[in-house]
Amino acid sequence: MKTVIVLASRNRKKVGELQTLLRQYLGDTIELKSLDDVGLFDEIEETGATFAENARIKAKAAAKSGYIGLGDDSGLTVTALDMAPGVYSARYAGEHGNDAKNNALLLRNLTGKKDRSAAFVCALAAVWPDGRVVETEGRVEGVILTAPRGENGFGYDPLFYYPPFGKTMAEMTAAEKNGVSHRGDAVRRFAALFDAARKERTC
Ligand code: IMP
Repeated sequence: MKTVIVLASRNRKKVGELQTLLRQYLGDTIELKSLDDVGLFDEIEETGATFAENARIKAKAAAKSGYIGLGDDSGLTVTALDMAPGVYSARYAGEHGNDAKNNALLLRNLTGKKDRSAAFVCALAAVWPDGRVVETEGRVEGVILTAPRGENGFGYDPLFYYPPFGKTMAEMTAAEKNGVSHRGDAVRRFAALFDAARKERTC
């Protein structure tokens, strides 16, 4: 039997990565729909102070469809910048989703800093219309370079160097990135918990 999940994200590349990952772990028993597919066109206000809070806000909004809502919130935390940009990652330089400006500001703010360690974090929340909740968080540690490298991925990927591979996230294939990324980590943890919760519900 198919389980329908409504994804609450406006970033198409991120939705694509998440779809691939979910299918990898939960197979084709999952049918993913977007907010547009179910006629939910209202903007979702991301007012949470943490990735987890924002993921839950988005999931709850998507669950208004009557299907299971799935929310994802992710971003970059940089040690030398007191964990900024954090929940403001998408609009760090003021304009939502302007990757070039965000990356330029990140490099400027790290000028002269010795510690360039950083982590990508991804929170996932599933909310059932009956109120049931499953939440997980994944992360990947890396280093912010002084200049971008690579053409793949999105966001801060060209600046995020992953030492075990000797590559930035933007130099990895999609499969390589999914294997080590914060999103991959969050989905792996999520899949087991989600599977248990949906079976519980049908018993
Ligand atoms: P969200 O869409 O609110 O989760 O915003 C996430 C923001 O964090 C994105 O716009 C990117 O700037 C950044 N981000 C999240 N995940 C990644 C990733 O996998 N690679 C690069 N940047 C990311």
